[in-house]
Amino acid sequence: MTTVDSTSLPASTPFGVSSFLAVEHGLYIGGRWRPSSSGETIRSINPATGRPLATFARGTESDVDDAVTAARAALANPEWRDISPLQRGELLHRLAELVEAHADELAFLESLDNGKPVSVARAVDAGTTAKLFRYFAGWPSKFEGSTIPLSPRGGLKILNYTVHEPIGVVGAIVPWNFPMSMASWKLAPALAMGNAVVLKPAEETSLSTLRLAELVEQAGFPPGVLNVVTGSGSVVGAAIAAHPGVDKVAFTGSTEVGRLITSAALGNMKKVSLELGGKSPHIVLPDADVTAVAAAAAEGIFFNQGQTCTAGSRLYVHEDVYDDVMSALVDHARRIVVGPGQDPATQMGPLVSARQLATVQSYVESGLSEGAELVTGGARPSGLGDEHSDGYFIEPTVLTETTHSMRVVQEEIFGPVLVAMRWREVDDLIDKANDSPYGLSAGLWTNDLKQAHRIAAAIKAGTVWINCYNLTDPASPFGGYKQSGWGREMGRGVLEQYTETKSVWVNLS
Ligand code: NAD
Repeated sequence: MTTVDSTSLPASTPFGVSSFLAVEHGLYIGGRWRPSSSGETIRSINPATGRPLATFARGTESDVDDAVTAARAALANPEWRDISPLQRGELLHRLAELVEAHADELAFLESLDNGKPVSVARAVDAGTTAKLFRYFAGWPSKFEGSTIPLSPRGGLKILNYTVHEPIGVVGAIVPWNFPMSMASWKLAPALAMGNAVVLKPAEETSLSTLRLAELVEQAGFPPGVLNVVTGSGSVVGAAIAAHPGVDKVAFTGSTEVGRLITSAALGNMKKVSLELGGKSPHIVLPDADVTAVAAAAAEGIFFNQGQTCTAGSRLYVHEDVYDDVMSALVDHARRIVVGPGQDPATQMGPLVSARQLATVQSYVESGLSEGAELVTGGARPSGLGDEHSDGYFIEPTVLTETTHSMRVVQEEIFGPVLVAMRWREVDDLIDKANDSPYGLSAGLWTNDLKQAHRIAAAIKAGTVWINCYNLTDPASPFGGYKQSGWGREMGRGVLEQYTETKSVWVNLS
């Protein structure tokens, strides 16, 4: 069925993308594509135009039930349960190859659905997704248990060893800012460890996950190993979090929804891992290179339209270089090209939805009403043309004269709004940097080795970047202190979160 007016797509849209958008997409359950049990659908909106982009199924609680049943059947299917670790790794390698082969198309689709520049979607979303599957493809054959030397007890001679077993059915609930990579951060370790997954993408950006499910199918994973139930958070997400047949829920999203998920998971004491919000301090010491730091600080907040959990949204600049850094930063912000993500000149696209734009605008107003000064941005950019008059665009925005009690300093805005502050004494800086309910990440710029290590040690955050910002790698753990989450994703450590460890005692006497 044709669901979208293809004339509203940019002329550069690849054929594979326009044909994908032209079809109404169902739920992927037990290896079959089918409509929602209610027959209802959701329309995805192109944030650069405000117009419909595609149609997909609005799942129900009963669809979640079916997906969980299909996932349980997959766990019992010898084609999944009994394949060797190397075969599991091969399936993941095949998936990585398919993502690489379709990366341009996936990136364009993500850009249309989320708004971000195609170049960002190509390098970050599609690129890191392929790398992630490759990294985790290596683990099934290497994640060993241990043999443990025990203290002697009576006359018994005991052999004690551990084995890692899949947890079972993993419910994965993900946000809209990096839709395909956030889904893969959960999917890759879950599949590597032999689990089955029920995945719910965000309703704003479900398309790339649906395309990824087609590639999972093509890679040869048995039916039911991955199930995708699209729909709203309050229905599909809540049903996954509360379902007695789900053994673990892995969530990325807001702290507020993380709390709801945690309480829903209590019913059957699911394992829970959470990647939540952030309000990351980005710190400039007096010896830093002003031009380089200004560019990095701008990139730290405006990358992905500021819709990044690790956005360096609180900038602390030492008073000796504050004026120089801010003047270079504001210059940089004013030069950022805002436009539709599919225009190769665009550096910052629209926000993901009308709702997110309204939230960001209301934060700017709240900052101003509490006494902050708007030094640049805050408005819709002009000159984008009629076609984009209903798009969700906002200029890169910088607020100064902010104090720590202001909402714009304390709360996550999740948009291209930077709050900047001066600092003088390191101890006070550290107190301020830690004065947040969040603890996801932090960045600092200096060549002073002693100060760098002192500040890195004192900051309560899961990631600290020194003289770089926003770097991630599948091999390095990622996650938050405080209300930024529970557990770590990526790296070897995440494998523990997708397995149960069994300790086996054998009496050899
Ligand atoms: P959100 O919490 O509103 O939604 C995330 C997901 O949860 C969506 O799929 C949504 O449908 C679902 N959901 C909503 N209500 C639910 C409920 N009651 N039960 C179960 N599921 C429900 O977040 P968002 O607006 O999509 O994303 C932005 C947030 O995500 C920001 O706070 C950001 O910091 C955070 N985030 C964190 C990381 C990280 O790694 N720490 C990464 C990306 C985004």
